[in-house]
Amino acid sequence: MAGQWAVVPLAGVQMDFEAWMASFKFDKNAYRSAKGAAKPSAQARPSRGSFQRQLLLTPPASPPNLALRRGRHFKTPSPPPTFIPSSSSSFSSTSTISEPTPLFTTDFFEVRKSPKGGYGAFATKDIEKDTIIMSEEPLFRAALMEVFIEFENLPADKRAEYRTLFGWQGVSDDEILAIFKTNRFETTEGKGGIFLKSSRFNHACHPFSTCTYSYNKVQGRLITITLQPIQKGEEITISYCGTPSTLYENYGFYCDCQACPPPAKAKAEADFYRGPR
Ligand SMILES: [Zn+2]
Repeated sequence: MAGQWAVVPLAGVQMDFEAWMASFKFDKNAYRSAKGAAKPSAQARPSRGSFQRQLLLTPPASPPNLALRRGRHFKTPSPPPTFIPSSSSSFSSTSTISEPTPLFTTDFFEVRKSPKGGYGAFATKDIEKDTIIMSEEPLFRAALMEVFIEFENLPADKRAEYRTLFGWQGVSDDEILAIFKTNRFETTEGKGGIFLKSSRFNHACHPFSTCTYSYNKVQGRLITITLQPIQKGEEITISYCGTPSTLYENYGFYCDCQACPPPAKAKAEADFYRGPR
C-alpha cells in the first residue's frame, strides 16, 4: 500500500487522469497484447472481500495488540480486531491464503497473515526505538502516466510479485493502477515508488503507529525506522496518511487503531452520510 503518499492534494488531477485513462483503456490492452505480456485473467479471482469474510468466520485466537497498515503501532491490548469487509471488490492474490509459513522474514520481523485482513509485519524480537528495520530499493518509481510502462518493463517474476499486493478497486478499475495507487510511497520528482516489502506494513494513525518512513534520495531507498520500542510479536505499523477519514477513500479500509472509532461504527456512519458502497 502505499501510503501517506496519499494523493489528497492531487485529487482533482487524479480524477482527470482516471477519465483520461478510461478513454485509452482499449489501447492499453492492445499495447499489452503486442508486448506479449499476460493479460489480466478473464476469470475472476476471489475478491479481497470474500477473503475478509472468511477471516471473520475464523477469528484468530490471540490478536496482536495493534493494527497495522503502513504505520500503526499499538502498545496496549486492543479488542479483537473487527474486520469490515469492503463492499467493493478488490484485487488480491489467491495463492497465499492457505500459506502456513511467513511470506518472508527479515532480521526484525516476519510478514504473515494479519487479523486485520491480508498480511502484516510482526516483530520477531524486541526492537529499540530509532532502529532502522527496513531499507529497501524501489521495484520502480513512476508518475501515474508511467505506471504501465514501468510495469511492462519488469521481469515476469517481479510482475507476478507486484500483483500479489493488494489493490483497492475503489481507486481504479484497472488492477495494475489500483495496486500502484494503493501501495505507492511518495519519493521524489512527483513520483510514487513501489516497495514490495515495505508495502506489507499496515496502518495505524499517529501517534499510535510504531514506525515512520522516508525516502532517501541519495541512497535511493525507503527507510523505515521505529518511533518507539516494539515488543516481540507486536504488529509493526506506519501511518499512511494524517487523516483517518481519507483512509477508506484511498485504501479501502477503516482504521482500527486506538485513535479511531471501531471500524464497524465508522463504516456505519460513513454509509449513513455518503450512502453504502
Ligand atoms: Zn486510526
